[in-house]
Amino acid sequence: MDYAEHVMDLVGDTPLVRLNALTQGVEPLVLAKVEYLNPGGSVKDRIALRMIEAAEASGQLRPGGTIVEPTSGNTGVGLAMAAQRKGYRCVFVCPDKVSEDKRNVLKAYGAEVVVCPTAVPPEHPESYYNVSDRLAREIEGAWKPNQYANPQNPESHYHSTGPEIWQQTEGRVTHFVTGVGTGGTISGTGRYLKDVSEGRVRIVGADPEGSVYSGGSGRPYLVEGVGEDFWPDTYDRSVADEIIPVSDTDSFTVTRRLAREEGLLVGGSCGMAVAAALELAKRCGPDDVIVVLLPDGGRGYLGKIFNDGWMSSYGFLPPESQDATVGEVL
Ligand code: PMP
Repeated sequence: MDYAEHVMDLVGDTPLVRLNALTQGVEPLVLAKVEYLNPGGSVKDRIALRMIEAAEASGQLRPGGTIVEPTSGNTGVGLAMAAQRKGYRCVFVCPDKVSEDKRNVLKAYGAEVVVCPTAVPPEHPESYYNVSDRLAREIEGAWKPNQYANPQNPESHYHSTGPEIWQQTEGRVTHFVTGVGTGGTISGTGRYLKDVSEGRVRIVGADPEGSVYSGGSGRPYLVEGVGEDFWPDTYDRSVADEIIPVSDTDSFTVTRRLAREEGLLVGGSCGMAVAAALELAKRCGPDDVIVVLLPDGGRGYLGKIFNDGWMSSYGFLPPESQDATVGEVL
């Protein structure tokens, strides 16, 4: 019989799939690494187990302990799944702008969710950073993974995502493109691909216009999970050869095209990364192999990116591309 002992054993080994329709007119082979096929639905499953096991080994997390983290989404799911397997309690702190659906996903995995006001500065005692710090101090046996500073975040990509891409492309990958949030994916995967290829693979970050990685100050953008207004410890500045800024409009337009034209229902940071990969592809030749990482699936964004009303309220849709109303059809 062929089965896994636990769902966490199914993390990683995600497939590469060729992009066909979106790559018309460009020469390189463009391959998407489909991270929504991880059991928790995102690339963050990879970091969760490794951060927990390192904390167990160092004695920071002990049997019966509680994991406290400010997270609203993908990292929370990965941590909750891993915690469930190992018998830890999870308390996640998230700002009130996070949709109820996302909070309910975390609760469904057995986590407790503490909601904080969005409209307060980071130094405010009720900000979600401060509340999570306070809970981590007050709850006995609490441990805070802190994905923005935890070296196991990039390490997990050095030991899984990077080697997978190298093996799947039989060492023929020439460019790796990924969005940058904590910087764990680009730093760990990029460092591995550079080490194994002796510097030949080019590492390209995709960043929302206005975020610090592409020279901005943190100006607001709507694509989720990527971009920052500070430099996290998990981002290794020596890895990326280039950072390509991408507008919200381009990120969301490409995200919708991935669903319609490639059959890939994915999140907005995936459209952002693919938009950057396509820009890069224009400058590459027929022997190049570009791997672009797609961090999560699109179901968490049905009310936003895949909702014409939301898209047009921000001016992301040209008027002629909106769905016809029933009246127009009749
Ligand atoms: N996309 C999404 C949807 C994410 O949740 C994240 C993680 N914050 C990223 C991209 C970026 O990954 P990383 O944190 O490894 O830079």
